[in-house]
Amino acid sequence: MSVLSEVLASNAAYAEDFGDKGELALPPARGFAILTCMDARLDPAKYAGLAEGDAHVIRNAGGRASDDAIRSLVISYKLLGTKEWFVIHHSNCGMEFFTDDVIRGLLASSLETAALGDDGFYDVGTGPGAREGDYIDWLTITDQADSVTEDVRRIKAHPLVPAGIGVYGYIYDVTTGRLVEVPAATEAGRAG
Ligand SMILES: [Zn+2]
Repeated sequence: MSVLSEVLASNAAYAEDFGDKGELALPPARGFAILTCMDARLDPAKYAGLAEGDAHVIRNAGGRASDDAIRSLVISYKLLGTKEWFVIHHSNCGMEFFTDDVIRGLLASSLETAALGDDGFYDVGTGPGAREGDYIDWLTITDQADSVTEDVRRIKAHPLVPAGIGVYGYIYDVTTGRLVEVPAATEAGRAG
């Protein structure tokens, strides 16, 4: 079966069993939001115990506090009333395995999927590539505790984020499924 037919079959089964979820309110019932990585091994609904309607989950590569992630967080409280936010990065994140220069070089060389070797990513495509990657800040990660703390600080310092929002910084351990606190992020994220 193709991915498309698999997904549509799963959705049909899900909708079959939808129950009263059609009655859920738009604002998240538990009043919080999670910003986390898109990594396929992370399932916020499972690792944080979410049901439909409970919380906002904002995901991108790395779970970084990009301008667009902050746009979503601001909407999350300003229009939909969340009051606590989590920034959750994780161990073994793909964002640790390259730098801006590396991905820019790979994209300039070809648009095909690169390979990952012992020395990091290398290009195996035939080209042509494009230089548009030079204009993107890829928000790569060198140390997870630092990236979580930086992102919590950036969110808390943002002029559109009120002091009363508490932001918690955690690292999800992909080998155990546990959330590990980042104390410096907790310190930076306290509701004022
Ligand atoms: Zn990741």
